[in-house]
Amino acid sequence: MVRTDSKLKIAVQKSGRLSEGTLRLFSDCGISLNLHEARLIAPAENWPLELLRVRDDDIPGLIMDGAADLGVVGENVLEEARLERGGMGAAAEYRLLRSLDFGHCRLSIAQRTEDANGSLEGQRIATSYPYLLRRWLVQRGIRATPVSLTGSVEVAPRAGLAEAICDLVSSGTTLAANGLQEREVIFRSQAQLIGRMGPLQPEQSATLDRLLRRLDGVQKARESKYIMLHAPKKRLEEVLSLLPSKHPTVVPLQHTRTEVAVHAVSAETVFWETMEQLRELGCSSILVLPIEKML
Ligand code: ATP
Ligand code: ZN
Repeated sequence: MVRTDSKLKIAVQKSGRLSEGTLRLFSDCGISLNLHEARLIAPAENWPLELLRVRDDDIPGLIMDGAADLGVVGENVLEEARLERGGMGAAAEYRLLRSLDFGHCRLSIAQRTEDANGSLEGQRIATSYPYLLRRWLVQRGIRATPVSLTGSVEVAPRAGLAEAICDLVSSGTTLAANGLQEREVIFRSQAQLIGRMGPLQPEQSATLDRLLRRLDGVQKARESKYIMLHAPKKRLEEVLSLLPSKHPTVVPLQHTRTEVAVHAVSAETVFWETMEQLRELGCSSILVLPIEKML
């Protein structure tokens, strides 16, 4: 039994747009979680860590106050909290550990379609991100007034509360349905793994190191491909020069002396053009496979 206080406490979004990506990441790292919908704490079955399942807006504060050791949160929520807390003199520091490559979104200003070429000067802009918006307005010297709303920001212009909005946008269909048009992207975001300041206990520190190594392996495996092909011996040099890999393996084939098998790990996507060039050199059985794990 691992003592609760030597476990790593990781704050994650309980349910929402980040939950699925977060749980997939832990699962890809080989961590089994004991998840019960109603429970706030989800202990791992095979690692000394537990998830605190909370609203995403609470995650930056939990880390900045040191109540949780790690957190998975969107940069939009993180930066808004940092600006807000910093302005009030509250603790606003954290360690950025890894960009997680999911939860990509943008925070944009949208205006009513009929005003879409107009200036923002003097307008009221409804938003749940008043600090990020104010910083952007100040940087550009635009005098507009942020109006803070916690939800349903896109209805504010119709309700007469504001002339424009500043909100997270994905496809733009919600904007269009409300007679709005995207004008300016003010912030781009993705999910981040963050950690609290201050030292961890030795056991926690060892767990974190192991977790980061596995995360790096998962990330690298996602980006990498395994290439297999048969190549004519005579053109081998040319074939190898086309492969985006430093250490390909070349092995003889049973049925022929004129061809060899080439296996290689590519750190990047293999383009159709490269595969076509390989075929033109006489290669056959060209396979590009995803890699599940890498260490
Ligand atoms: P909670 O109940 O946890 O407060 P929420 O409704 O505030 O949830 P979600 O809509 O689940 O939050 O979004 C969580 C995060 O997902 C956002 O802060 C953002 O970082 C990210 N995200 C990714 N794509 C989008 C999108 N299209 N719209 C909104 N958020 C997105
Ligand atoms: Zn939220």
